[in-house]
Amino acid sequence: MKYWKKYTQEKLRTSIDNALKKNVNFTEDPSLGYPASKLDEMVFYHDAPFLKEAPLLRTFVANPNHIGCHTIGESESAFKGTHEIEREVLNVLAVDVFKAETGKFDGYIATGGTEANIQALWVYRNLFINKYKAKLDEIVIISSEDTHYSIPKGSNLLSIDSLSIPVDFENRQIIEQELDDIIKKAKENGKKYFIAICNMATTMFGSVDNPDVYSDALIKNNVEFKMHIDGAFGGFIYPFSKEDSNLNFANPHISSITIDAHKMLQAPYGTGVFLSRKNLIENVLTQEAQYVNGMDVTLCGSRSGANALAVWMILFSYGPYGWFEKISVLLMRTDWLCKKLDKLNVEYYRQDNMNIVTIKSEYIPKELAEKYDLVPQTHTGDNKWYKIIIMSHVEVSDLEAFFDELEKIRLN
Ligand SMILES: *Cc1c(COP(=O)(O)O)cnc(C)c1O
Repeated sequence: MKYWKKYTQEKLRTSIDNALKKNVNFTEDPSLGYPASKLDEMVFYHDAPFLKEAPLLRTFVANPNHIGCHTIGESESAFKGTHEIEREVLNVLAVDVFKAETGKFDGYIATGGTEANIQALWVYRNLFINKYKAKLDEIVIISSEDTHYSIPKGSNLLSIDSLSIPVDFENRQIIEQELDDIIKKAKENGKKYFIAICNMATTMFGSVDNPDVYSDALIKNNVEFKMHIDGAFGGFIYPFSKEDSNLNFANPHISSITIDAHKMLQAPYGTGVFLSRKNLIENVLTQEAQYVNGMDVTLCGSRSGANALAVWMILFSYGPYGWFEKISVLLMRTDWLCKKLDKLNVEYYRQDNMNIVTIKSEYIPKELAEKYDLVPQTHTGDNKWYKIIIMSHVEVSDLEAFFDELEKIRLN
């Protein structure tokens, strides 16, 4: 680990104080040109004593703007202290967690997984247009049927087609023959440029796609392609639980990654992460963004620096080993549940190294699913699965209460 460390509370606080000091102080500095200020002082506390002990709230009140991307070109100097905090977060994630080389990546804290995924599609669409003069109808997105709906959303927004690859019902893995057939057919229909979305844990099953399946099939069919990893859910688990994972920048076929900090990391909503290799993000430069100092290469405009700070605080409070321990506890609880279900002969899907257990709906009466808030695969029509996600608030005693009720029903 080059960047990721565990800091004491004292060190966390002083680092944040220093970062805020380097930002503009709207109360004291003459700053006449910004269409922004700290949070309204009539309505929100701005010098209450408890803020001293609450660095995230303090940053929230100071209201730094992180508009743009801070790994490339210039940035607004008014918020350089917290921009540095954002860069530290990106270094930890890109280099220490996802094996990029120092200085060889770009990224930013996006509003969430949806934005980061659409950012990736946007970058590749424009790359194919800029580099190969591709027409919109020559570009296509491919992803498994278990892929998150932000991908079809992006396909719609960007006017590029998207093809869904069937997965095996039991093991949720891409059916390789189907993938090959779909690529061949797409080629016959004039598609030349492929954007592959590889899931590092799907939302419903926690299933992880093998990126080699995509890259082998695309290379075999001799088409141009780029691959993006959707690690919105799994990004803060899988790299820690699966040591020899090939879902990172050490894999030459992978060009970008989405991670959500507001899921497993328990940061406030509005906190996703987009990471890509160097020399890609420029493809979405908006030349017209003249009032922003630096290059605007991000999908969202203004965004709060408090979100970056929240991720920074979580990462540096735990440190890498603390985070590994937290994930390990969740996986132990998941193992506990799976063993119990095995004993009852209840069928379920679980991806190794993940904390999602998706149970076949025929084993779970609807009332029980509703009582424990299990999430169905579909809210309309023929639901075949219910999922349980072992987040930190889901303790073994909660799982046991659910299991005891299920056992009574099954044994009757
Ligand atoms: C949640 C999720 C998303 C979308 O993330 P938001 O943060 O809700 O925008 C994308 N992909 C996967 C796999 C997800 O689980």
